[in-house]
This record gives sequence, C-alpha cells and structure tokens, in this order.
Amino acid sequence: MNRDITPYVLKRSPDQGPAPALSIDYAAALNAQQLAAVIAGEGPALVIAGAGSGKTRTLVYRVAYLIDSGIDPSHILLLTFTRKSSQEMLERVGELIGVRSERVRGGTFHSVANMLLRRYGRAIGLEPGFTILDRGDAEDLIALVRAQLGLHEKDKRFPRKGTIAEMFSKSENTLRPLAEIVVEEFDHFSGHLDALEQLQQGYQAAKRRDKLVDYDDLLVLLRQLLMEDESVRRTISSLYRYILVDEYQDTNRLQADVIRHLASTHQNVMVVGDDSQSIYAFRGATFKNIMEFPSLFPGTVIYKLEENYRSTQPILNLANAIIEEATEKYTKRLFTRKLDGPLPTLVEAGAENAQSRFIAQKILELREEGVPLSEMAVLFRSSFHSFDLEIELSRHGLPFIKRGGGKFVETAHVKDLLAHLRVVANPLDAVSWHRVLMLIEGVGPKKAQDVMAAIVKSPNPYQALCGMTGRSGKGLKDLGLTLESLAGIEDLRPAHLVNQISEYYLPIFKTQYDDYPKRMRDLDHLQTIAERYQGLETFLSDLALEPPDGNAIGGETPDRDAERLVLSTVHSAKGLEWQCVFVIWIVDGRFPSVYSFGEDEEIEEERRLFYVSVTRAKRHLYLTYPINVFDRGSGMVLSKPSRFLDPVSPALLDQLALMEEGGRADWYSRDDRYV
Ligand code: ATP
Ligand code: MG
Repeated sequence: MNRDITPYVLKRSPDQGPAPALSIDYAAALNAQQLAAVIAGEGPALVIAGAGSGKTRTLVYRVAYLIDSGIDPSHILLLTFTRKSSQEMLERVGELIGVRSERVRGGTFHSVANMLLRRYGRAIGLEPGFTILDRGDAEDLIALVRAQLGLHEKDKRFPRKGTIAEMFSKSENTLRPLAEIVVEEFDHFSGHLDALEQLQQGYQAAKRRDKLVDYDDLLVLLRQLLMEDESVRRTISSLYRYILVDEYQDTNRLQADVIRHLASTHQNVMVVGDDSQSIYAFRGATFKNIMEFPSLFPGTVIYKLEENYRSTQPILNLANAIIEEATEKYTKRLFTRKLDGPLPTLVEAGAENAQSRFIAQKILELREEGVPLSEMAVLFRSSFHSFDLEIELSRHGLPFIKRGGGKFVETAHVKDLLAHLRVVANPLDAVSWHRVLMLIEGVGPKKAQDVMAAIVKSPNPYQALCGMTGRSGKGLKDLGLTLESLAGIEDLRPAHLVNQISEYYLPIFKTQYDDYPKRMRDLDHLQTIAERYQGLETFLSDLALEPPDGNAIGGETPDRDAERLVLSTVHSAKGLEWQCVFVIWIVDGRFPSVYSFGEDEEIEEERRLFYVSVTRAKRHLYLTYPINVFDRGSGMVLSKPSRFLDPVSPALLDQLALMEEGGRADWYSRDDRYV
C-alpha cells in the first residue's frame, strides 16, 4: 500500500484561482462563493447553506477539481445519504472529467463501514464473514433474547421489541448510556431499566456469538476499530486523503466521530449541509452536529452560499416564511434571480378522494402544457398517505414510481427466502435459523428453540436436521438435505442459490400466503437482482444496507424514471428537485403528525420536514388538504390546514377550494375565506 504518498498538495490559496492547466472552466460554472469552496486548499471546510443553493453541485465540482489537480481518485471518499445519490454525483463528476472519476470511493457511511470492517475488522476480533441484521432482524433477535431471559413473561407492560430496538439504537447513535435514554425519553419504562440493561447485554452477546452485526454496530465497530488500532487507523486515514460529506445535517454524533478518526492524519474533510433541513432526529441525528463541526475540526473554514438556483421567488418566499418561525436556525435567507412564476397554490378538498382526483387532473393538465411526468412529484409525510392517490393515478393510466416506505426485501416472503441464503452464508445466524425453521409444518417456537440448540451443538448442522424425528421430521429433513446440497457446492453465486432455494421454498410459500401469485413477482425480482452479483456476501450486505424500493418491481431498466412521476415520502425526497411538486395531506394532524403534538422538538422537526418539501419545487407548487377526515389513531376529526401555514401571509399563496360540479371535481378561488 502506498503510504502517505500524494503527488500534489493543495495549498490554501482561494484568491489565486484555479491553475491554468485544469480541464474545466470552474469559474464559469459556479458563483464566487461556490468556487471558493471548490478550489479551497487543504484542511477542514464547512459549507453551510439553504436549500437549492448548490451544495451538492459544489461537492461534485470539488471532486472533479481534486482529480483535475492531480489527486489520485482512489484517495477521495464521498459519503452520501443513499447509494443512489453517490452514484448520481459520481456520474456527474464523470461527465465533467471522464473515466478518472470511476476510482473515487463513494457510498453511505454504513456501506463504507461494512467494507472497511470486512477488510480490517479482525484487529478488533470481528471475523469478515459476519451477517448484517436489518432493523426487522434486529428486533427479532431482541425478541429471541428476551424470551431466553424470560423477560417477556415478567410483565405485560414491558416495552415491545420495536421500542426496545429504538432505545438501543438511540443510545448507540448518540453515544449516551441506555439509562439516560430510557429516563429522558421513555420514562414510563424506567421501572424496567435493570431488565433492559440485562437485555442489551444479552443482545450484544448473541450478536457476537452468531457473527451478526446490526446497522448501528457497523458504525460503532468502525469507530472502535479506528480508536483502538493505531496502525489500522493510519492505514485507512492515509487511504482516504480527501473526505467529502453531503447532507451533513443528518449525521449523528457517532458518524461525526467516525469522520474525525478517518481524517486524523490529514484533516481534509469538506462537509456540506443545511441545519434547516435536518430531518433524521429519530435516528439520533442532530442539526447541532453541523454547528459543532468547527469545534471538532479546529481551523475549519466556513463557506456560505446564498443564491438559490432551484426555485422561483414566490416559492422561496413561502419557504422563507415557513422556516422563519423555527426556534433555532443558522442558515440565512435565500434569494434567487428567477423572479417570475406562479404563486404556490393551497387547495382545500372536501375529502381524500377529491384531493386525489384534483392531483390526477392537474398532472394531466401540466403534461398537456409540456411538463414531462418525470418533472413531477407528489410528496407526503407518511407512506400510507398516497394509497388513495395511487389508485386514482392508475385509473388515469398515469405511471408512477414510489419511493420511501415499505421496501420489498422487508416483505415476509422475500425475508423467508433470504433467511435460507443467510444460513448458508453464516450457519451461526440464529435469527435466520429461527425464521427458516418456523416455516416448516409442525414447528412452533418451542420446537424451533430445541432444533436450534441441537444445530449449535452438532458439528454438521445440516445432518443434525436430517436426523430429526416427530411430526416435523420430514420437513426438517428436507431442509437439511437442501441446505447440505448447497453448502457443498463450489458455485455460491447468488442467482444459483436463489434458484435452488426457490425450488425448496415454493411449496411452503404457497401454503403460507393466500395471495402468493401477487407475491411471486417479488421473488422473481429478487432473482433478477441476484443475477447482478458474483458473491453471496456482497449480495446479502447490499440488500440489508440499501434495499431497493417497494414499487421498483420491473423498473430496473436504464430509463426507469423516464416516463413516470415520482411519489415519495418527504424523507426520501431529500436533495432532489422537480418542476412541479404536490405536497398532499397538508392537514394538521397529518403534517405535522398528530404524534408530534406533545413535544416542541418534534414539532420543529416536522417544520423542517415541511421546509424540505416545499423547497423541492422549481416552478409549480401545490399544497393540498382534505377536510372532515376522521383519524382513527387519534380519534380526532382533521379539518384544519397545517399549523405551519398559520403565520404565512395570504398574499404568498393562491387559495382554492374544490367543488363538485355535475359529478366531476372542479375548483374555484376562495381568497375571501383566508383573509
Ligand atoms: P438541497 O439543499 O436541496 O440539497 P443543494 O444546496 O444541494 O440543495 P443543488 O441540488 O446542488 O443544491 O443545486 C440546486 C439546483 O441549482 C441544481 O439544479 C443545480 O444544478 C443548480 N445550480 C446550483 N448552482 C448553480 C450555478 N452556479 N449555476 C447554475 N446552476 C446552479
Ligand atoms: Mg443537496
């Protein structure tokens, strides 16, 4: 490995401008503030700016500039929130400077941690063959350990597995002890603190024993590796000599710490973000992280971008008015040169379906006017908010792709099939064994436990299965034979394994699920994905780390987004932009969600989420809300538009109410109602 060798060193000399030999005219593509960040010298840098001000663009040009200046691309690490965004950014770098960009290392924190731990984890006792638990698996393992410890029988009011997983995760991500999290945020469970701590230890021990690693562990263990092993830290740090991070406002303490260690030999870290768009507090992210960056990295140079290139002035006026009310914010007001454009429209609908019909109708109109479907998006607070609209769009033959919400690998049948692959990859994986065994006729939780105990003891788990007797004996034997035949073969290509296991699993699948014909498509889709992989371990890790979206089925062709509009949760719309954006269910109780009402901090997070939604629009923005909706969860009738619009001057919005006329929806202006 070439240690500490960099042929060129960037000097901090922003006022000199780029050297003449560069292949791109950076000054022509960027404004002065962006340019200063792009050509910044070595050392830590923070770009803090509002939505649409070119933060992501600045990072793309920065990567291009580094390569253009002679930095070896493999020394550049680009960390993003999703794999898709790092791919897109690197494609743009490729368009700017060509194939040299291919050697840049890009990905999410978790995927980079996964890669580094498999390579260097032995130094902290982590064998490379570990299996990654997704959140559902982690909860299942917690439930298993809870049962083993006899905690479930103790008290009916013991928290559920999902809540426990949330507590554990918060504790890891915020680097705070479990006791503190429970007392501060789950006070009603404080009486169970001892048991919860015992369970946490049991969960950790079970993961270690079974070579399992959950999402949080990836970061926790990477941090531990970097902290404990000086030589590994030096090696990794000098491998990634330039670290760039997009969407820094959504990182947490743990990630900040990982970056600090990664950069320990050079301090070349550039992060970009907007505190007003911090929307992942539930995962332990904090917008304060971005403000603390300069103290974590002494000598940080701060760049502020103020011109918005995305939206028209009327949209920015609304965005500014919404975020104006935030109790804590640091970024400045934005301006744009796109002065003209329609006012954002606020639409009141009599019922949910009227809202859906309005949107379908509007989409058709806009398409007539020449706005392509791919330039339109409908955003919502929670995935289920779009169900009615999905039916309406299908009725009009309007194709869409849905992002966020349920992932297809989280569906029960896909998890079933994958569990079989996972026991082949890691025969110690108790969660997957449990799932696989419970599918067999005659096996209940007790039997599954017994079989697992026998498997663990046996030198050959598959043969142990073949020797089982009783009501489930035949089923267990079939399983044993299938797995044994797979484990023995050379060809562990995922596509081959999925194929072989499907043969065993399909009869079970058909008895488990009444709607199996519909679910079959997902299994076919899994087969298609598997064909893209050579190795089982990479296949399983990728699926666990960044599962494809639910409705991506059949959408894997290169031009998959070409003729479809996007339906997306606000969380999954981060960083993106469209000509026309609809935000639906802008009703108080849905957005902000009724569950956030009690806590100021949560309301603030919902406000930022609303800010993120409206700042996705370039030119057309529609906010819609139905009235007289009975909300089953809260028992309330929801009728009022979002409270975030209360302080917004009526002059900033065009206000309409839908009327049913002759059986079809129509709309008219209702300005007078809101004055
Ligand atoms: P967000 O906060 O939503 O992540 P951002 O700050 O990352 O936004 P970008 O997505 O990089 O902003 O840029 C928004 C839009 O403005 C993009 O279409 C981008 O190409 C365009 N843009 C940014 N800067 C410039 C510029 N100097 N000249 C022309 N277009 C620009
Ligand atoms: Mg961005």
